[in-house]
Amino acid sequence: KVKTSHIALTEKTTTFLTSTKKMLVNNQWIESEAKKTFDTLNPANGNVLTKIPIADENDVDNAVVIARNAFDLIWKDGIKPAERSDLLWKLATLIERDIKIFMELETLDNGKPLEKAKYDVLGAINHLKYYAGWATKIEGTTIPTHSNKLVYTKKEPLGVVGLIVPWNFPLMIAIWKLAPALACGNCCILKPAEQTPLTALYLGKLILEAGFPPGVVNIITGPGIPTGQAMSQHMDIDKISFTGSTLVGKKIMEASAKSNLKKVSLELGGKSPNVIFEDADLDMVLDSLQWSSFYNTGQECTLGSRIYVQESIFEKVLKSFKEKAGKMTISNGFNNPDLGPMISEKQLNTVLDYIELGETEGAKLVYGGNRLDGDLAKGYFLEPTIFITKNEDLTIAREEIFGPVVVVSKFKDFDEVIKKANTSKYGLAAAVWTKDLSKAHRFANAIDAGTVWINGYDLFDAAVPFGGFKQSGNGKEMGKSAIDLYTKEKAVWTVL
Ligand code: NAD
Repeated sequence: KVKTSHIALTEKTTTFLTSTKKMLVNNQWIESEAKKTFDTLNPANGNVLTKIPIADENDVDNAVVIARNAFDLIWKDGIKPAERSDLLWKLATLIERDIKIFMELETLDNGKPLEKAKYDVLGAINHLKYYAGWATKIEGTTIPTHSNKLVYTKKEPLGVVGLIVPWNFPLMIAIWKLAPALACGNCCILKPAEQTPLTALYLGKLILEAGFPPGVVNIITGPGIPTGQAMSQHMDIDKISFTGSTLVGKKIMEASAKSNLKKVSLELGGKSPNVIFEDADLDMVLDSLQWSSFYNTGQECTLGSRIYVQESIFEKVLKSFKEKAGKMTISNGFNNPDLGPMISEKQLNTVLDYIELGETEGAKLVYGGNRLDGDLAKGYFLEPTIFITKNEDLTIAREEIFGPVVVVSKFKDFDEVIKKANTSKYGLAAAVWTKDLSKAHRFANAIDAGTVWINGYDLFDAAVPFGGFKQSGNGKEMGKSAIDLYTKEKAVWTVL
């Protein structure tokens, strides 16, 4: 039963929520063969939103056969790049038309504030438009080798690609993958996270309306096991593009090695350093710090969860940071607070365990740390939480917590902070705050991270490559780089 009566949803959202959820395969809405389902919940109150099919190995097989046929018979040679471009642009305009529905579904399913859900949908639209442009520009090269040889290269689609998506930015990350995969001419099997399947299924309706040929975009649902696992082990999927935890990323690589050596690209976890030098513009820093620390209730891979502050400004920064954290509003995403709930009771408990461990291991809790009760007791709400420590070896300073918890520590000078910042198994992102741009660029050179922000945080654009170093993953999404993720390069030699 849909229990959202206190919220005025648009009629289309309510109709979609109350409809029976099916998966999109071959442009048809189908149940899973075994007819098994799971519940998706509203994290703001724990209520069941609706039932979702569980795709098992047979369902995955079926989707792969359909996608392979669509690739061989239609999509590979029968559709011009300009037609792919039109379809992507059309999909973008349909999402624009239905933006309110996407925002509402994301807020219901993920908990995020409605206005923040809007950023995600706008990000998805921009991505589709950006890659609509690329579809007609995927060119090869001619390579001079010898006067009696003609050598050229072609970038060809991979074939059938599996796209496995996490729950923190459900629609946006689905589109980060779908848009370049389709622009390059692949057929796709998209699997949203089990916590947040709704926007992907609604997207399926627009895939049909946009006029994609049958089998080009298939959307199947279910948990990591069996659904994601069946995809990563499949012998006829050519690539898995995965965003999620480092733990599961490793399993996907292993499954690739044990099956058909499918290509794998991974966007994984992080523990990103946010470094504040004493010569930074402190107003800028303090306007940003609460967001780089707690955005999306801390459930963000790029979260600036290790904050390093130069010792002369440490107390000042900490005081203001605590005040700003204390002013952040927390509630049901439909009230447009700063922070919504965490995704699930399980995730909330994981984070509470880390908070307890932080205290046991000797970090000093200086703000937050509690689950919210009262009106919010039924949901999974947690205060923004700030620890300070001198000890870089603490678990909470090393592991990705994936909640609104940060660890702040002092540093003396450039060399010390670079050393500390690079002491992590992760290398997703980093930020540096200083008015000295020469120092900022020395920092950018020295830091081992896939993205560096200078005097800013969480800046993204469809045109700029994004992806981590070390155990934060491999392969770059976005920009021109994503074209390499979804194509294979063929060299053709001709003897003249
Ligand atoms: P997760 O790894 O548990 O799940 C991600 C997806 O993988 C889900 O769709 C899930 O169903 C599927 N999955 C789970 N087990 C699987 C298996 N054995 N085989 C195949 N698929 C499986 O991650 P999560 O909890 O949904 O997301 C949080 C993690 O994602 C965090 O670590 C975060 O840092 C990371 N993340 C990274 C980025 C990035 O771009 N680097 C972006 C968002 C989230």
